[in-house]
Amino acid sequence: MQEFTKFPTKTGRRSLSRSISQSSTDSYSSAASYTDSSDDEVSPREKQQTNSKGSSNFCVKNIKQAEFGRREIEIAEQDMSALISLRKRAQGEKPLAGAKIVGCTHITAQTAVSGCLLGDPADSKGAPVLPGVAVFAWKGESEDDFWWCIDRCVNVDGWQANMILDDGGDLTHWVYKKYPSVFKKIRGIVEESVTGVHRLYQLSKAGKLCVPAMNVNDSVTKQKFDNLYCCRESILDGLKRTTDVMFGGKQVVVCGYGEVGKGCCAALKALGAIVYVTEIDPICALQACMDGFRVVKLSEVIRQVDVVITCTGNKNVVTREHLDRMKNSCIVCNMGHSNTEIDVTSLRMPELTWERVRSQVDHVIWPDGKRVVLLAEGRLLNLSCSTVPTFVLSITATTQALALIELYNAPEGRYKQDVYLLPKKMGE
Ligand code: NAD
Repeated sequence: MQEFTKFPTKTGRRSLSRSISQSSTDSYSSAASYTDSSDDEVSPREKQQTNSKGSSNFCVKNIKQAEFGRREIEIAEQDMSALISLRKRAQGEKPLAGAKIVGCTHITAQTAVSGCLLGDPADSKGAPVLPGVAVFAWKGESEDDFWWCIDRCVNVDGWQANMILDDGGDLTHWVYKKYPSVFKKIRGIVEESVTGVHRLYQLSKAGKLCVPAMNVNDSVTKQKFDNLYCCRESILDGLKRTTDVMFGGKQVVVCGYGEVGKGCCAALKALGAIVYVTEIDPICALQACMDGFRVVKLSEVIRQVDVVITCTGNKNVVTREHLDRMKNSCIVCNMGHSNTEIDVTSLRMPELTWERVRSQVDHVIWPDGKRVVLLAEGRLLNLSCSTVPTFVLSITATTQALALIELYNAPEGRYKQDVYLLPKKMGE
C-alpha cells in the first residue's frame, strides 16, 4: 500500500505510508470483533509471548487472539484461488526447499495465506497457520518499532536469509546499510512496489546492486488488478463508508481516464451516476467518449458536480480555484497518486475552517458557510477508507511467489546483478 508514493524522500515516504497503513488497518478492524485495550497500553516489544508450539520467536500485539486470526485467514482463503493452487503444486514440487526468505510487507489475513506457501506447506497440512514463519508486526507500530521489527528479522542468531521479499524497499535498504555481508548469500530480491522498484533501478544505475532483483510491480496481471479492477471494486465502497452518498443521478467528474479512471467510471456508471471525464491525452479522451462519457474541462463542470475524483498520477489537478468554485457539499477525493492530486495545502489557510466529522472525513468551511467534503485529506481513498479485495491480494502474492521461485531456481548466469521484469510466460 506504500506503492503509489513515486518520489520518496525517506522520512516523507515512511510517514505517509504509516498513515495509509494505519488507516487501512482501521478499516479491516471495523469488520473484526477484536478489541482489547488493556493490552494496547503495553508495547508488544515489552511483552513475553509464546505461541501454541512453544516458540517465542515473534512479536505481535496479542497472541491470545490467534484463534480469531485463524478464522480471518480461513475467510481470506475462500477467494485466493491462484495462491491455493500454487500452494497445492508446491506441496509436490517443493520449489522453495532450502529457501530462507526474509520479507517486509503488510501483515493481513491474506499475507498469512501466502506465508503458508512460503513457509513449509507440508508442515501446515493445509491448515491456516504460519509454519516456520516468525512474524514481527503489529497495528500502530511507531517508526522506531518498524525498524526494530525489520532488524529482528534480519539479525537472527544461527539463521541467515538467502532471499529478500520486499514491499517499499525498506528491508533491502536496511540490509544494505547495516548487514551488507548478508548479500553474499542472497540469491535475489523480489520487489513489489513502485517506490521499491524505483530505488532498485537507482542502485542498479549506480552499479551498487549486487544481486538480481525482480520487479513484480510492473507485471501485467498485477498492473491490471491493482489499477483497473481493484479501483473499480473499491471506489464505491470508499465513498459509501465515508459519506453514505447515493450514486444514482449524481453528477460526478473523474479526472484522468487511464486504468484507475476507467475502473472508477465503470463502477459509477453502473450505479446510475452521470459521469464526466477530464483528460489531457487525446487517445484516452477518445476512449472515454467511445465508452459513453462526456469529456469536459474541469472548469466547465466544477460548479455543478456533486463528486470530484482524481485519478491522474499528476500534481495539483484540483486547485484552490476549483475548490473555491465548487458547490456546497461537493465531495472531493483522490484515487491516483499519494496526496498530491488535490491541492490540500491551499485549504489549510486561516480563512477556512476544518471540521472533522468522521474518521477520514473533513468538512472544509468557507467564510460564507459553503462546505466541501474532503476525504482522507486527499490521500488515496480506497487504501484509506475501504478494503482491498482478497482476490487482488491473491494475484499479487501469487506473482511474488512465482518470482521468488524463478529467482531461487534459476541456473547460474540467467540473471545478473540487475532489475528484471517477471518473464511474460510466468505472468500468463
Ligand atoms: P495512467 O497513466 O493509465 O492514467 C492516468 C491518466 O491521467 C492518463 O490518461 C493521463 O493522460 C491523465 N492525466 C494526467 N494528468 C491529467 C490532468 N491534469 N487532467 C486530466 N487527466 C490527466 O495511470 P493509472 O494506472 O490510471 O494510475 C493513475 C494513478 O493512480 C497513478 O499515480 C497510480 O500510481 C495510482 N494508482 C492508484 C491505485 C489505487 O488503489 N488507488 C491503484 C493503482 C494505481
